[in-house]
Amino acid sequence: MNKAIHLGEEIYALVSRLYPICRSITGNGVRESFAILSEHIPLQVREVATGTKVFDWTVPREWNIKDAWIKNERGEKIVDFKKCNLHVLSYSVPVHAKLSLGELKQHIFALPEHPDRIPYRTSYYKENWAFCMTHRQLTQLRDGQYEVCIDSSLEEGHLTYGELFVQGKTADEVLISCHTCHPSLVNDNLSGVALATFLARSILSGEPRYSYRFLFIPGTIGSITWLALNESKVRNIEHGLVLAGVGDAGKFHYKKSRRGDAEIDRAAVHVLKSFGDFGVEEFSPYGYDERQFCSPGFDLAVGCLTRTPHGQYSEYHTSADDLNFVRPEYLGESFERCIAIVNLLESNRVYKNLNPKCEPQLGRRGLYQMIGGHEGGKRKELALLWVLNQSDGEHSLLDIAERSGLPFELINEAADALMEHELLELCESNGGNT
Ligand SMILES: [Zn+2]
Repeated sequence: MNKAIHLGEEIYALVSRLYPICRSITGNGVRESFAILSEHIPLQVREVATGTKVFDWTVPREWNIKDAWIKNERGEKIVDFKKCNLHVLSYSVPVHAKLSLGELKQHIFALPEHPDRIPYRTSYYKENWAFCMTHRQLTQLRDGQYEVCIDSSLEEGHLTYGELFVQGKTADEVLISCHTCHPSLVNDNLSGVALATFLARSILSGEPRYSYRFLFIPGTIGSITWLALNESKVRNIEHGLVLAGVGDAGKFHYKKSRRGDAEIDRAAVHVLKSFGDFGVEEFSPYGYDERQFCSPGFDLAVGCLTRTPHGQYSEYHTSADDLNFVRPEYLGESFERCIAIVNLLESNRVYKNLNPKCEPQLGRRGLYQMIGGHEGGKRKELALLWVLNQSDGEHSLLDIAERSGLPFELINEAADALMEHELLELCESNGGNT
């Protein structure tokens, strides 16, 4: 079993553990999920009080739910929150009442176009209560009295988020963010949550040049809250990725930051291209938390990595986004690409050719011999020549990879070999201050 597939199995196992928990933008389900993540990484769990002003928003009341059901006239539970937490509109206020079918239908969501799926619905900022069920079940309900109960609470409390900071050699940061607010939905976004956890674990085991900040936050209100409370830290963020929808079978998509030509945009595109077919989307102010990170007052270099983009698969926000829709191998592939992007950022330095007047004699230094015996020696030779030619203190290794059409890894290896032979020097001013 190769390493990526093995890791994919581990990521999937974490997803499977988190799956049954009822999460929302606040509440105990989020805390329970973070307790599980804390078994893998030293997560700092932060609590922000209800009513805290965060830019134009206010941290909402905390929502918790114990149980919910609909009973028919015979007292049989026909909808049971304990069987599937998608059955309840997230942030439903408590209710216990007897209703006619007509009245009940005012509080039901279903999907006629997918009659066997339960939709996922929320009402965070408008008080409401409702149930979600399959369209098939809805059409089978007979006239009569129904008893409904939602045993929930909406009270002063906290918004809970998780944060992990990994100190690197420089203060410059890479931000990795994922939303943690959805209940039993796997691709959106337990896939991103579990992938970020394993990415963090991998970075913790190394000695990175950059510092890394991982955020596990509720969508929208979480990023707004973090940005409002951490404005002074934002200037250190050099690159960022929002991870969401990374466990389905679809091809990879990268959505560029608002800047469009940031290093993270180029790095992500270069890596995805090196693995095969992929899609790129220009920035738009819709989607996940890149909307907030890329708002004009911050304009951070934060893009979004997904497989099939949100809303472009029919399972999206329905009970069909389950443990069958996401597979370990796809999670493993996503991990592979994330690590490749991280490695590219880590190695993307600017060098200066110490022998810029004509080409140095590579054969005399054993550089041709070194590469001659290998398969693809010609490409390695080309990589050496490109690095020497472009390393004038102005061009990064990614610039050189893009211009030469050669893979970044090959260009990076060539730079390492030339450094070993003292034909290059690192330009500190332009390549991070180690
Ligand atoms: Zn979603």
